[in-house]
Amino acid sequence: MDLQALLDDIARESAPYAAQGKVASYIPALAAVDPSRFGIALATMDGQLYGSGHWRESFSIQSVSKAFSLALVLARDGEALWQRVGREPSGSPFNSLVQLEYEKGIPRNPFINAGALILIDRLLSLTGDSLGTLLAFLRAESGTPAVAVDPDVAASEAAHGHRNAALAHFMASCGNLENPVDLVLDHYFRQCSLTMSCADLAKAGLFLANHGLRADGSRLLTRSEAKRINSIMLTCGTYDAAGDFAYRVGLPGKSGVGGGILAVLPERGVLCVWSPALDPHGNSVAGVEALDRFTTRTGWSVF
Ligand code: GLN
Repeated sequence: MDLQALLDDIARESAPYAAQGKVASYIPALAAVDPSRFGIALATMDGQLYGSGHWRESFSIQSVSKAFSLALVLARDGEALWQRVGREPSGSPFNSLVQLEYEKGIPRNPFINAGALILIDRLLSLTGDSLGTLLAFLRAESGTPAVAVDPDVAASEAAHGHRNAALAHFMASCGNLENPVDLVLDHYFRQCSLTMSCADLAKAGLFLANHGLRADGSRLLTRSEAKRINSIMLTCGTYDAAGDFAYRVGLPGKSGVGGGILAVLPERGVLCVWSPALDPHGNSVAGVEALDRFTTRTGWSVF
């Protein structure tokens, strides 16, 4: 199969779908992003890298980072995490407050904002520096030392972070936070503000396609843990649209409101798409379209 030609076709066909979405507007730094940007990259297990469109341009990875946080916590702490966070789809928006009160401060899953705050809290306790641990991992796996926080996005996240602060304070009131709320939020806002390209993200995610083995051949996760993360990505990685994403794409995926989506092709590689215009659930419209076309054309889904 000519993968380069395929990605070029998919980029050309999918990019116009951005017109059906809207760029995230909850912070000025994201609202200013050009909605016509579109990138797609495929990193394969045999070390090849393909890309089309703006696939080498950095964007705000936002919640795509949560897949990596989950891996870093599970690698260090194993099953203990599941005392503090569930692993069921929420069926609610990623920043919803309602469910968290009903369920006594235990977030439904690690990929909604409340669950991601728990991951950061735990990684802070385990390492002393959640963001630093994540950054070192992303730089090593992507081979890009320039992976960094965008300070403007981070400042904007903090200035407009009342909802995330409410989630964190509520969990603290339920005894489900180990570190000070402000410290957890600071690491969360900066983590959301990491900038990476489709190429960087596709390479960084390869351990998920490779049963937990890192780029240098060392083991981050057991085979079983890598399976579990992929499962949670499939069921919860695109929030209250995870059912529709699974139906259309048939791959584990993790999206972010910057318009990025990382999708895992087990034993084959990792695809990353970026197009900033979002659907009402916060997933990239053209990104989902591109992944749908890719698995339809190749037959490379998990089903
Ligand atoms: N920074 C965003 C928030 O906290 C991240 C959400 C997302 O990408 N889904 O609301």
